Amino acid sequence: MEVLYLIKPGELTLKSGNRREFEDRLRANIKRQLEGTKCQVLHKGGRFYVAGDADPALIEDVLGRTPGLAGFARATAVERSVEALLPAAVEAARAVIAAGRGLKFKVETRREYKEFPLDSYAVSYAVGDELLRALPELTVDVHHPDWVLNVEVRDRIYLYALNIPGQRGLPTHSSGKGLLLLSGGIDSPVAGYMMAKRGLKLEALYFHAYPYTSDEAKQKVVDLARIVGRYCLGMKLHVVPFTEVQVRIKAKAREDERTLLMRACMMRIADRLAEKIGANCIITGESLGQVASQTAENIRFTGSFTDMAVLRPLIGIDKEDTVATAERIGTYPVSILPYEDCCVLFSPKHPVLKAKFEAEKESFLALDIENLLKEALERAETIV
Ligand code: ATP
Ligand code: MG
Repeated sequence: MEVLYLIKPGELTLKSGNRREFEDRLRANIKRQLEGTKCQVLHKGGRFYVAGDADPALIEDVLGRTPGLAGFARATAVERSVEALLPAAVEAARAVIAAGRGLKFKVETRREYKEFPLDSYAVSYAVGDELLRALPELTVDVHHPDWVLNVEVRDRIYLYALNIPGQRGLPTHSSGKGLLLLSGGIDSPVAGYMMAKRGLKLEALYFHAYPYTSDEAKQKVVDLARIVGRYCLGMKLHVVPFTEVQVRIKAKAREDERTLLMRACMMRIADRLAEKIGANCIITGESLGQVASQTAENIRFTGSFTDMAVLRPLIGIDKEDTVATAERIGTYPVSILPYEDCCVLFSPKHPVLKAKFEAEKESFLALDIENLLKEALERAETIV
């Protein structure tokens, strides 16, 4: 099926300095996801188009989850004449009415091809007139229209009316690569998604404490990685065996310090892996005060085990908003499957709430655990 989509780049238009680089990246990212279809991504006259032969549902799925797009619209292109324009305009209007977008409209025309015999006002007028004649249920409302039929006179005449909102944000890779600490919970997949939208390519790290955490728990994380990966051109998942580390902590640490020290160990391994894979930051799903390990004092302590930037996009977000995002991006039903993650099993009844920085550093050293952490990372399994 011959299709044409007009693409509206997002924020990148604001960044005049590296605009070109951003546009090229956005274009390459869309192209990559449409590999195997007969679609091309074109950039002409300051506009992006996807054009070619493919299932519109597939194209809309790709465009709908590509960061860096403000929106997109299915467009029709016709030969540059009024005779061709008018019936195409009626057909476009029918589609909008069928989609239930309302009956008040206006026409906006851009005339890039200046030799066209009618000026833009005359084009809008002729099209509006034709729509009112063919579809009497419509009315013109130039101030508060339900929808706008856009007409662009260029090499051909392009028409579009149904705007579909995009993810906005920045194109994948434009901010470098981030390492996401991905658990099977609700928060970390959302955190990953939020940073993917800000232009990070992601890889994920999951700490697996077999047999204390089941294979189902791991599978859950694999599934989550796949879903979040849809928003950043796929995502590698590194699974680090964490059982020995937890056993050591349980044997050597005071009960109330266990969670905190376990977090410290996670951060230390993340730091090493981030460096190894060329990431410029670490991402977690922490939210201030949500659980005992997420007080400012405890976040400071765990953060001190890396000197990378630790990005915590959910730090000021309420749980219900996080849940709403999780539902929207499709991670929620997987996150709420019942398999426990490793932290639950070793959780103390009364964990340290406000880490005393120096004292906890000493407790960490007393674990004598650096070698074990190194080994755990060496035994990581990578799932693509
Ligand atoms: P989530 O819903 O993401 O599991 P949470 O509210 O349960 O978060 P914690 O269990 O305190 O909070 O975890 C805080 C963060 O630490 C998580 O968001 C995640 O980034 C990271 N994390 C926790 N457990 C793991 C794990 N097993 N593997 C990788 N990262 C983890
Ligand atoms: Mg959790």
